[in-house]
Amino acid sequence: MHSKLPDTGTTIFTVMSQLAVEYNAINLGQGFPDFMMSEELIALVNKAMLDGNNQYVHTNGLPLLREKLAHKVGQLYSTSINADEQITITPGGTYAIYTALTSILNKDDEVIVFEPAYDSYIPNIIINGAKPVLIQMQFPSFNIPWDEVKSKITDNTKAIIINSPHNPTGAVLREDDIEQLKQIVLDKNIFIISDEVYEHLIFDDISHQSILRYPELLEKSFVCFSFGKTYNCTGWKIGYCVASATLMKEFRKVHQFNCFSCNSFVQVALVEFLDNEAAYLSLGKFIQRKRDYFQSLMQATNFKAIPSYGSYFQCYSYKDFSDENDMELAIRLTKEYGVTTVPLSSFYQSKKDDKVLRFCFAKKEDILREAAERLSRV
Ligand code: GLN
Repeated sequence: MHSKLPDTGTTIFTVMSQLAVEYNAINLGQGFPDFMMSEELIALVNKAMLDGNNQYVHTNGLPLLREKLAHKVGQLYSTSINADEQITITPGGTYAIYTALTSILNKDDEVIVFEPAYDSYIPNIIINGAKPVLIQMQFPSFNIPWDEVKSKITDNTKAIIINSPHNPTGAVLREDDIEQLKQIVLDKNIFIISDEVYEHLIFDDISHQSILRYPELLEKSFVCFSFGKTYNCTGWKIGYCVASATLMKEFRKVHQFNCFSCNSFVQVALVEFLDNEAAYLSLGKFIQRKRDYFQSLMQATNFKAIPSYGSYFQCYSYKDFSDENDMELAIRLTKEYGVTTVPLSSFYQSKKDDKVLRFCFAKKEDILREAAERLSRV
């Protein structure tokens, strides 16, 4: 068989999580919280099932949930969106990104991708017959080199993927970045895929530069979100996409014949839970305390923190004490020290090795303490 993705292997998250299980290591690799989610939300889901909400809902998502989301967007970003035409509920953020790319890409289109890049973007582009155009963010600030972006725009450029707060680095886009983005796309036929799954996981009182704040950009964007990240339940696999009505029409053509509609009971529960603004507005501070706690513990190790301003992740450099390849070190830390991480090189096509590992700090304090204790022996 002729593979459609000949160069794609198993995602690094699966590889590292399996290794963690095999060696019974603390898993700071794959990004997921290890603490309990809201029991109130669990109870609402149980109730929704018992109340009989167990059949298909509308293919675009439960109408009431979409209305609640449109209201939330209005409150947070002062942009008015039409729940009926501009929001679709999806089985997670990754699915939303894949569907967005699939609904716009044709053969030989080019898509600008910033590296290090979340690992699904490039295979999503290639499977659609399009071509990723890779641009490396500056190291170690992970700022976007906008002049290089301008120089790589061609007649074939179809889209730019942005991601803030950023996985794997924890970098966040600022107003200046949005200005640069506007200069590049506003007078051209270039779409934006904005991965905003860490919308509420942003620290140090920085305001999230959502594309939803900018109606002229939203006109040409698919903006992707994740309830799993917002409510500490990554295994629930539910999210949504917001786009202009024209783009959403195309998105839905793909979506309706792929997943058709997402599970009913979680959507019913979320309608009520979305009224609880504190549940999402308090998340940034809560996760920030974990970043700070882990960072203070890591001072007793030889790893050097690279600033993280959002997401579940922080990158740490080990270049001062080892020149080992990052993949090899990540495997050795799991096997010999019982701590699993993700090597940053796995987010570069070229496997560029800056001697950096990604750590997920969305974990219980005693787990973070034990992990740092083990790492202090490295
Ligand atoms: N987003 C998570 C991470 O970056 C993993 C999601 C996945 O395993 N597909 O670790």
